[in-house]
Amino acid sequence: MPSAEVLPEARRQMEICNACRYCEGYCAVFPAMMRRREFTDADLDYLANLCHGCRACFPACQYAPPHEFAVNVPQALSALRADSYARYAWPGPLAALYRKNGVVVAAATSLGIALVFGLMLALRPEALSTPATGEGAFYAVIPWAVMAGTAGVAAAFSLLALTIGAVRFWRGTGGGVAKGGAAAQAAHAVLTLRYLGGGHGGQDGCNDTGERFSQKRRRFHHLLFYGFGLCFASTTIAFGYDHYLHWAAPYPLTSLPVLCGTLGGIGMTLGCAGLLWLKRIEDPAPTAKAVLGSEYALLWLLLAAAATGLLLMAVRETALMGSLLALHLGVILSFLVLAPYSKMVHGLYRGLALLRSATEERNDQ
Ligand code: SF4
Ligand code: SF4
Repeated sequence: MPSAEVLPEARRQMEICNACRYCEGYCAVFPAMMRRREFTDADLDYLANLCHGCRACFPACQYAPPHEFAVNVPQALSALRADSYARYAWPGPLAALYRKNGVVVAAATSLGIALVFGLMLALRPEALSTPATGEGAFYAVIPWAVMAGTAGVAAAFSLLALTIGAVRFWRGTGGGVAKGGAAAQAAHAVLTLRYLGGGHGGQDGCNDTGERFSQKRRRFHHLLFYGFGLCFASTTIAFGYDHYLHWAAPYPLTSLPVLCGTLGGIGMTLGCAGLLWLKRIEDPAPTAKAVLGSEYALLWLLLAAAATGLLLMAVRETALMGSLLALHLGVILSFLVLAPYSKMVHGLYRGLALLRSATEERNDQ
């Protein structure tokens, strides 16, 4: 659904909510909404990204369908959120990648895997079937310069695109300077996923399957979030070992990068599998159909990254190591390139929306 439809629909629903205000204690969206009498496009982008999709305000709403007002805040805000990702993306022409995002992610991942296998076949064809063990074994399969150079260029582009997207989002939703202390408050909300807490002061959880509250979504999301953080730490430490200590991978099973990577990979696998399972059983009504493809695509991509990493660890002493390394690097390369054009940006924009919310809250005091 293009902006011309999602923005007026979100505005209509926010105006009804602003008159009703029954859900004012559910999350940060409602206090932010109540600070406004009118909703500009910028306000709506901010509110949409402040919403965590906990769904608590849907079963609670007396104006939800079949009422003629047809209020469905989680659905309207999820549609607008997806639309905002495309509008703030950089460079602009690549925003088209958000449309049919499931197909784009699947195609790009296949391409990434094919590219790494192609590179390996061109440079070290024998490595696909010959076991390589000991220090530097990975680089006997794919030379360090090729591995680091390709990943470095992809990561640098991704970081640039994400940074410009974040600046555009911040300016586009009002700009300004965050109030002192607001960053710590926003960071606490991010790290605890406070607003996946739903009603009753954020203690109940989400309404995945109807009126019953559950903490499952929050716990699976925590596993994925902290698992991802551990995998990132593992890669950073391994880079430090290689670059500063000249100690080449693969590292012993008890080393810090392997421990962080293993724990992180298990956390990501459980988190992704749990969130995919929730998608199968959840009530579809509070989610915009247009966003489902991108949500499934990101979860499958992260699951593939974690699972291939764990498998690589398991077979690294065997002849399968070369193939698994190519598969894992292909998935990671795709993830790096796709990060600014996938649902991955939700963490960044939601964090900034929480920062704005915390600043507004402090301005009220
Ligand atoms: S979601 Fe429904 S009940 Fe809640 S504030 Fe909006 S209109 Fe009122
Ligand atoms: S779905 Fe949850 S986070 Fe989003 S507006 Fe409703 S109560 Fe708030």
